[in-house]
Amino acid sequence: MKKVRVINIDADKCNGCRACEAICSAFHASPKYSSINPERSRIRVNFDPLNDIYIPVMGGEYTASECNSRYTITLDGKKYEECAFCRASCPSRDLFKDPDSGLPLKCDMCEDLEDPSLEEPWCVQWCLSDALTYEEREEEVEEEVKQEELEIGLESLVDRYGLQKIMDTVARMSMSKKG
Ligand code: SF4
Ligand code: SF4
Repeated sequence: MKKVRVINIDADKCNGCRACEAICSAFHASPKYSSINPERSRIRVNFDPLNDIYIPVMGGEYTASECNSRYTITLDGKKYEECAFCRASCPSRDLFKDPDSGLPLKCDMCEDLEDPSLEEPWCVQWCLSDALTYEEREEEVEEEVKQEELEIGLESLVDRYGLQKIMDTVARMSMSKKG
């Protein structure tokens, strides 16, 4: 079992006040709380005020290439743009990139709630509409094979049998799995 920290987003409750962006950027300023710049925030709010659409999204993993998911989403009669729910820092847009360095910005749960007095992430505390709520839960997780261990294991197999033999075996195994 592993403790998992989650921020739930209820876009219907978001009013687009952007307080979450302000406090997140202040928390990550250097020195801390010395400035506010939403472009440095790890949470950004997609805006479409004419259609009363505000979608808070937290920065996720960086990706070096664009995806091919070019589609629109309609939920409860509202039409959302193709990238509205995407968390990636990607080449298609400026979202989740530091405005000075261009480095990707990812939500770090307020540096994993490093300050013990911080019971909930800042953006959750500053969201007065309850569009953001914090949850901690225990989840069963599969034992992860550490990348380093995997590489060492593969290296020793290659040393012992040679790369070609390993590749042939993997190809044979995948063919037999396909049936
Ligand atoms: S603070 Fe809450 S209501 Fe305001 S923009 Fe952020 S998520 Fe929306
Ligand atoms: S949890 Fe912390 S780091 Fe993540 S978006 Fe909210 S304020 Fe920013």
